[in-house]
Amino acid sequence: MPHILIVEDEAAIADTLIFVLQGEGFTTTWLTLGQAALDHQRQTPADLIILDIGLPDITGFETCKQLRRFSEVPVMFLSARDGEIDRVVGLEIGADDYVVKPFSPREVAARVKAILKRVAPVAASANGSRFQVDQERVQISYGGQLLNLTRHEFRLLNCLLEQPERVFSREQLLDAVGVPADAGYERNIDSHIKSLRSKLRSVAAEAEPIQTHRGLGYSYSPSHS
Ligand code: CA
Repeated sequence: MPHILIVEDEAAIADTLIFVLQGEGFTTTWLTLGQAALDHQRQTPADLIILDIGLPDITGFETCKQLRRFSEVPVMFLSARDGEIDRVVGLEIGADDYVVKPFSPREVAARVKAILKRVAPVAASANGSRFQVDQERVQISYGGQLLNLTRHEFRLLNCLLEQPERVFSREQLLDAVGVPADAGYERNIDSHIKSLRSKLRSVAAEAEPIQTHRGLGYSYSPSHS
């Protein structure tokens, strides 16, 4: 079940959100301070954060800016009045959506679902996938951390994630990356894979989500991630 972190200093608003979100099957945590939300997200990452802009300690904007230094979790701003948030500014800070108070809790729940669907984990395994692909932003997160990928690495990893356990030949992967499959480029795939693996290891040193199949190619193995 997706877990939603609600950061809102007005109990009545938080209560309404908790009620409607839990009614939709989400689990929730409620906090009233921006700093507490940052600490909480570091310890136990939520799947989405609903973030009030007017908080008693640091603003929701500042909270979101600091959050983006270590997490790509989707954020929905709650704004006290129309005009408090400029949509463009909000998106630049890294928000995924915003609603203006007073809002319909059902609409908030619907938007939460829409955002989560957009960033839905690819190929959930028994362990749950540790990867999240955001096609619109051309971003992949692993274990809640945004990977700093080149465009080729993104396409390569995205291709592997789309079909867990399928072994792709180097030629097929070159095709996915969008470079011509002539001999010289085949080793190129190996160097992209090497670079990808080192980025994944910096998140999870023990995991080996990309498996090598000698003489055949590579696959994504959810059970090794
Ligand atoms: Ca407030």
